[in-house]
This record gives sequence, C-alpha cells and structure tokens, in this order.
Amino acid sequence: MAQRGFLKSLLIVSTLAFTAVSCKPKDAKDCGFVKNVYGQNISWKTKEPIPLVINSSVPSQLRPAIYRAIKTWEDHAGEKLFRVIEDSSQASASPTKDGKNAIYFMHTWESNRQSEQGRTSVYWADDQIMESDIRINAANFSFYDQEPTQLVLASGIDGTVNALSNSDGYNFEALVLHELGHFLGLKHTTDRSSVMVTHLSAFTNRTVLSESDSESIKCAYK
Ligand SMILES: [Zn+2]
Repeated sequence: MAQRGFLKSLLIVSTLAFTAVSCKPKDAKDCGFVKNVYGQNISWKTKEPIPLVINSSVPSQLRPAIYRAIKTWEDHAGEKLFRVIEDSSQASASPTKDGKNAIYFMHTWESNRQSEQGRTSVYWADDQIMESDIRINAANFSFYDQEPTQLVLASGIDGTVNALSNSDGYNFEALVLHELGHFLGLKHTTDRSSVMVTHLSAFTNRTVLSESDSESIKCAYK
C-alpha cells in the first residue's frame, strides 16, 4: 500500500514536470531580461515610443546626458523607444505608481541604502511593462556630464552640500544608461563589459553598450 502511494506521488511529480516543460514559452531565451512567473521576458510591448517625463528636480546641465543615453539604446534597438517630456506636471512630483514614467533627482534617500546610486521601479502585468520610474540618488552622489570637474554636488533636500561630495564624481550618462536598461526590462549582470553591472565606479565613463547589451535589447525591441 505504502509503495502504491509512493508510485502515485511519483506520477504526480513527473506530470507536473512535463506540464512545466510544455508551458515553457518560446521567448525563454535569457537575454538578460527580468522574467515573470512564467519565465517570459518582461518588456514594453508597444510600437509607440514610451513617454518619459523628466522631473524638474533634474538639473538642466545634466539633461543632455539623458538624451544621449536614450539614443544609445535606440541606436542598438534600431527603433525609437522613448518620447521625452520636459513638462514636469505630466507626472507626479515625486516617484509613485501614477501610470506615468518619470526620472527624478532625489535629495533624500533611505539611510540604510545610501550606497545605492539609483533605483528603477518597474511595474508589469503578464509580460508587459506598464510603468517605470527612475530615482537618482543625488543625496549621496555627485554627478557630471562629460566634464568631470563640473560636478553637481550631492546635497540634501534643504540644499546642504554633502560633506563627502567633493571626493568622487559619477558619470550621469553612464548611470542613466544603466537605469534605462532596467526601465526597458533588463536585470543586473556579472559580465564586466556590460552597462548592467550593478555598481558604477567613480569617474568611469561607461557610456557604450557591450556586445551582450546590444544583443539583449534586440531580443525585445527592434
Ligand atoms: Zn541597477
């Protein structure tokens, strides 16, 4: 009797395994994308360019970097991916799930996550991204666009410059390129040549996609 019970449970296990295999989606190729519970790559399944609001908190001297980072992804995807909106009122004043995509320069950051350079929230349903918001940690990191000596110093919400902010500077275009990768659905990688490596080192101009980044983006966009 006990043995029959064992055989029965074995059958159930093998049936489940078979079902799981047969449900494996066609686009299960890894490609570096975040996956939903079904193992499908999540991405924006739209032919329209994705609206992205630049919040008023982003300094004007750093904004050209956002456009270049966008162009880099678009050049490799082979299509226009973004529609930039510089009117801050088109999205919430601070990052929240509001149905709008926006990028924010944050002057407050969680005290237990201060080493985090940026954070991109991605909301999806099924395998389709519905919304994404990018936070830049401007409370703890100083940024430059192309000229490392012209730093936008890390500062608090009251404008107080962070005492440590003169020692390091970070390439804003490189960070935005990385966060836009998340925005499009990509996850982190350990491939040192990729822009999707977790941490951006100080004064490192990581503004060019690796071969693998280029291949990844073409998996979902072209
Ligand atoms: Zn990241």
